[in-house]
Amino acid sequence: MDRFSIATVDHFSIDIYIRYEMTKTLTEKTLLVKCENCGFYFVPQGKSDSKYCSRIKGNAEKPCSEIGAYRKYKKSITDERKYYISITKHYYYLVKNKQISKSDYCIWSEYAQSLYKKYKKKDITFQALKKWLDLDFDKAVKMQK
Ligand SMILES: [Zn+2]
Repeated sequence: MDRFSIATVDHFSIDIYIRYEMTKTLTEKTLLVKCENCGFYFVPQGKSDSKYCSRIKGNAEKPCSEIGAYRKYKKSITDERKYYISITKHYYYLVKNKQISKSDYCIWSEYAQSLYKKYKKKDITFQALKKWLDLDFDKAVKMQK
């Protein structure tokens, strides 16, 4: 047998599996990595810098590779970015429900993005960005027309 599959591991103890992988690592010089999501040891496929395995842990619906990447992304988002995204999503929701027009949303969104870029470049403060984001939607759009 070339390699244990995840299903095979269930029939053996993790200990045996790890020993198998350790031996294989030493003989084949493959890198054994501990998954940052589930703690399971795995041999990275493709990208050798993979931090997450491809197994689906417990009741999860997605493999660690997807869950881990998403968690890392969520962790990296600042509160300021979350605030900006929440307002943007709120207005997008209103477009979907036809409570505001798509063209007005595009005007608002374009200006919001330009302000956010200015904030990222530290040309304006978050307070300045927030002040504009907190404006009444119609008023904010009218200012751009
Ligand atoms: Zn994992």
